[in-house]
Amino acid sequence: MISFREPLTRKEFLKKLGLLGLGLGGLTVISNCSSERPAPSPDAEGLREARWYEQSPRQTVWCQLCFRECIIAEGKRGFCRARENRGGKLYTLVYGKPCAVQIDPIELEPMYHLLPGHGNLGLATAGCNFRCKFCHNWHISQRSVEETRNQDLSPQEIVAMAVERGCKSISSTMNEPTVFYEYMYDINKLAQETGLRTLFHTNGSLRPEPLLELLRFVDAVTVDLKAFTPQFYEQVSESELEPVLETLQNIKRAGKHLEIVNLVIPTLNDDLDDVRRMCVWIRENLGDQVPLHFTRFFPAYKLTSLPPTPVETLEAAVGIADEEGLQYVYIGNLPGHEHNSTFCPRCGERVIHRIHFEVVSSDVEDGKCRFCGHEIPGIWGDSEKAISDEEDEQT
Ligand code: SF4
Repeated sequence: MISFREPLTRKEFLKKLGLLGLGLGGLTVISNCSSERPAPSPDAEGLREARWYEQSPRQTVWCQLCFRECIIAEGKRGFCRARENRGGKLYTLVYGKPCAVQIDPIELEPMYHLLPGHGNLGLATAGCNFRCKFCHNWHISQRSVEETRNQDLSPQEIVAMAVERGCKSISSTMNEPTVFYEYMYDINKLAQETGLRTLFHTNGSLRPEPLLELLRFVDAVTVDLKAFTPQFYEQVSESELEPVLETLQNIKRAGKHLEIVNLVIPTLNDDLDDVRRMCVWIRENLGDQVPLHFTRFFPAYKLTSLPPTPVETLEAAVGIADEEGLQYVYIGNLPGHEHNSTFCPRCGERVIHRIHFEVVSSDVEDGKCRFCGHEIPGIWGDSEKAISDEEDEQT
């Protein structure tokens, strides 16, 4: 008999089945993944049924929200700790229960090409589907909903709060928002109807179908590309690189504004040959217009024995990205560095002067460099669409 003491990923599950010489009969599924399915309603306990899972007749469920595809036995939770199988149905435990709600400059995401300098309401819940040893938000991401201090806030209340405080956007961020997918989805839909911009900051591990459905109500995405080796993802984050690359391509294909963050950690992902391979991949698959942020590591969580990233390493990474033709490359977590700012790739003028997360001045007008008229990719007005850079990439 298969034990479900710990949540299994689909791969682990199939491996076990193979070892035991069983077929897949127990996973004859009732599909629960239709994109036409109505938004979940709370049950008698106030819990919402999850989306993107399938049920088996043996009360086991198969979550298909992220790359892990957890097989979860009755009464157990998925790897992310945020989804639980109750009586053969999968429930989200974090809908309407944010443990962090705060207003910051949009630059904090980081997101540099979306209404620079405006106030953004960011929210997070407990849980994550990665186990990054360097996580700065581990006190919420590596916790279950019972271990965090939560508020009860409906999507309507979140959107009303953002409007009341003068924010122009809402972002799902800090922990991995995939784990509060249903909540994020409802917030984003309502926020866009209200005229707010929506974004999320992700590790890029959503499966393609739920990602595409979510993107209907998303203006922009910040994706962590944590490294460019499968080994790093496996050993430092207990995850996989390949799904992240697929997500980046899908966001690009969907025409959403995309920015990439690479936290440079001494000795773990600072090999400059890997940095170059990453930059080449970005240029060839996503285009040279995608903003890339190299951010400085500071000791945190399980990586307190490593030093902060040397400034020279960050500058060397920027130099490589420049050589490979990427046009908007930044250094983050290093206040006052010139690469906090945006420079026009055509005339070289500084078009957005930033000091850390503060916008000192902007010379982007109607999405163009004020000095030479070059189009800068991004979202620059409340009602503008993202400027498509597809034509630029072709030339
Ligand atoms: S969202 Fe959670 S439960 Fe679903 S597959 Fe990912 S880690 Fe597993």
